[in-house]
Amino acid sequence: MNSTLYSLIGLAAGVAFILALKGLSHPKTARRGNLIGAFGATVATLAVFFYGAPLNNLGWIVGAIAVGLVIGVPAARKVEMTQMPQLVALFNGVGGGAAALVAIVEYLNLGAQATTAEVIFTVFTVVVGCVSFSGSIITFMKLQELMTTRPVVFPGGRFVIAATLAATLGVSVWVVVALGTTPLLVLAVLSLIFGVLFVLPVGGADVPIVISLLNAFTGLTVAASGYVLSSTLLIIAGTLVGASGTILTRLMAEAMGRSLFGTLFGAFTAKPQEASGSAEERPVRSGSADDVAILLNYARRVVIVPGFGLAVAQAQHTVRELADLMLSKGIDVAYGIHPVAGRMPGHMNVLLAEANVPYDQLAEMDEVNPTFGQTDVAIVIGANDVVNPAAQTTPGCPIYGMPILEVNNAANIIFLKRSMRPGFAGIENELLYDPKTMLLFGDAKASLTKVVSALKAL
Ligand code: NDP
Repeated sequence: MNSTLYSLIGLAAGVAFILALKGLSHPKTARRGNLIGAFGATVATLAVFFYGAPLNNLGWIVGAIAVGLVIGVPAARKVEMTQMPQLVALFNGVGGGAAALVAIVEYLNLGAQATTAEVIFTVFTVVVGCVSFSGSIITFMKLQELMTTRPVVFPGGRFVIAATLAATLGVSVWVVVALGTTPLLVLAVLSLIFGVLFVLPVGGADVPIVISLLNAFTGLTVAASGYVLSSTLLIIAGTLVGASGTILTRLMAEAMGRSLFGTLFGAFTAKPQEASGSAEERPVRSGSADDVAILLNYARRVVIVPGFGLAVAQAQHTVRELADLMLSKGIDVAYGIHPVAGRMPGHMNVLLAEANVPYDQLAEMDEVNPTFGQTDVAIVIGANDVVNPAAQTTPGCPIYGMPILEVNNAANIIFLKRSMRPGFAGIENELLYDPKTMLLFGDAKASLTKVVSALKAL
């Protein structure tokens, strides 16, 4: 009876995960989707305790859950919205690492009784789980700016990566043939090194794609460990994460004008690059909030381009106030949304939804780009890479080939930023020096508040 009930609960949890994904596909239903997914995961976890096979080491398991709760709950509660991608990268990596550890322990338990299929799945779980773990740690460090966000490439790097991959594959075969603990541990270490080498050369525009790819990897690892542990639920959950992560990776690669193959194997082809243009002293045109308000007041069409800095400044409500004010003055206003603006997919949509910006004012890149020619003012708020023309003009730069919001075609460009510092990709933006660009220096929220007051006064 218990095992039937256990299977039924597992099935219900699987259905909850599918409904969660469906809900997450639209901003209006995303919150509900999230709750359904969390409910499914909680029920599945409780079912393992009450209806699953008798558990050994209960004290250790409960202790580990307690440690996870003590670290995870405050971390998730305290994290700033702008740091969410780092947290996701870290949690994802820990998931991959945990699946690899479980597979190793299970392999030790099975010993000589392990079937060839079980050994192959164990090898897969260990390799992909370890790559996902160490790769995610590197993406975490890049996003947290604990290391450079530019591609890290060293002479002969591609040969080192190829050699590490070849060694990983060789040791995988060794594990399957020789069945021993030592080769499995050597395999884990090699995979950890490969994960680091795989992600180091990724820079700028490709980081979001790699985060999504590592997420898909973790899903596949969990599915494979489900096979080793004979857990249908792990197979379902892992496959869902693997499949949705793969689809998301493809969609992001397409939106960024990257081939998935190129992103995956970029590590093997990356060449050492020159350091980015240092902040050379060149004149720029900066203005005041009054200057910006006058420009906006006489505009017929304005496109607002939000980026990571809008999220940092938490200026979503103020930007809506500005947009509403312009609309009340009869100005045509749209928000131009780049697929990788901010630090996570859909970041700008979520941020603007928080301020109840109507969806019909948001225009995707393909929709808004042809309209910049008829736009009087493009106001770039805390965005940089997503409008940087170097993506079209400078072969070899980390964002080359990424489609951009073509604000350079607008009659006037206003940048709201705090300094001349570059964006995430670490490269200079020529647009800041363009004669039709005006810079309004300062925190985006403070600057927008001043512009709103100045515009009201006109
Ligand atoms: P960028 O990181 O290119 O630029 C952000 C700009 O905001 C900077 O120029 C910064 O300049 C400015 N800024 C920061 N804080 C403030 C503030 N408080 N007030 C005003 N300005 C501020 O952001 P984009 O959105 O243009 O591009 C996103 C980048 O992130 C891309 O390279 C993308 O590939 C990458 N990425 C995207 C992910 C995603 O899924 N969306 C995930 C991981 C990476 P200053 O310091 O001078 O103020």
